[in-house]
Amino acid sequence: MTDLEDLPLRADLRGQHPYGAPQLDVPVRLNTNENSSPPPAAVAAAIVAAVATEVAEVNRYPDRDAVALREELTAYLAKQTGEPLTVDQLWAANGSNEILQQLLQAFGGPGLKALGYTPSYSMHQRIAEATCTPWVDGRRASDFTLDPISAVEQVKVVRPNLVFLCSPNNPTGTAIDLDTIRAVADATPAMVVVDEAYGEFARPGTKSAVTLLPEYPRLVVTRTMSKAFAFAGGRLGYLAASPAVVQALQLVRLPYHLSALTQAAARAALRHATELQAGVDSIRGERDRLVSELTARGWEVVPSDANFVLFGRFADAPALWQRLLGAGVLIRDVGMPGWLRVTAGTPAECSAFLGAFDQVATDAD
Ligand code: PMP
Repeated sequence: MTDLEDLPLRADLRGQHPYGAPQLDVPVRLNTNENSSPPPAAVAAAIVAAVATEVAEVNRYPDRDAVALREELTAYLAKQTGEPLTVDQLWAANGSNEILQQLLQAFGGPGLKALGYTPSYSMHQRIAEATCTPWVDGRRASDFTLDPISAVEQVKVVRPNLVFLCSPNNPTGTAIDLDTIRAVADATPAMVVVDEAYGEFARPGTKSAVTLLPEYPRLVVTRTMSKAFAFAGGRLGYLAASPAVVQALQLVRLPYHLSALTQAAARAALRHATELQAGVDSIRGERDRLVSELTARGWEVVPSDANFVLFGRFADAPALWQRLLGAGVLIRDVGMPGWLRVTAGTPAECSAFLGAFDQVATDAD
């Protein structure tokens, strides 16, 4: 048997560990910000029927440019954000992670720099590094907010080629207001990527960065069907940007990257967007309940516009995480000392989490 160390692996990958939260079979899984509700039976049947039709022609390659799917995503996003969009502004891939990878393949690389304001979605850094794009860790205020002055100051010092803004931000739940996004886009010639994976969960009155696209040709907004859409297993992410950005990604995408089965399943899911997103209001309500219940117990809780809540500060967060797991509740240790993150699931799951937390958390925490 050959060990990994024996292979002529790229030097910068040596000693690294694969990214990924534990996938454990426990009764309550609130660790990866999924939507806890499976598709209703009628929607599942519609998706199966769409895939079945496609299988009849699976000897052929799929539409390389996924035009029909992109048209339907364009209509969905225009309706969701209130911003008129055209199909040439929309691009789709296997999850928004693949979109982020294609962005870094096209606009990053050796000798270029990417800046993100951490703590944030750690895959931004990992994908940057996997594409040999040096990463610079920017900072947020101590309450995890990001104001325009600080954001711009950092851009001016670092002079990045790509800037990552995550709104609502994972793992803190913090939304970034449009003034900050504008200020960053005005201050740099870089590509500005706003990761809105959790956009649909934002509190009322929050505007999507999609509304800024007409003013900023280097702005990119990434979205996903993994969260609000309850389609994480379907692997479908997308972006909205100027048509030139889509053309740039077409230079780096693999031919036929989106399988015919994925395209068909995603289109069927989009036709049932209302049913699949029926739980979003309830998830927002559960998120707000988690915030108020944990606050009432005296813990520090970060205000959230997403489907999860970051809370602390614990003397030993990994130990508390382990005790919760022992009680059958899997949440996320995001590697921020003192903090844990819990996904807002169904009312029953959130009650189970709070019940387990009351059982296992002690004054010593
Ligand atoms: N962006 C953020 C901020 C995320 O939290 C996630 C998933 N955890 C993703 C992107 C990637 O999601 P997907 O590849 O499933 O679209």
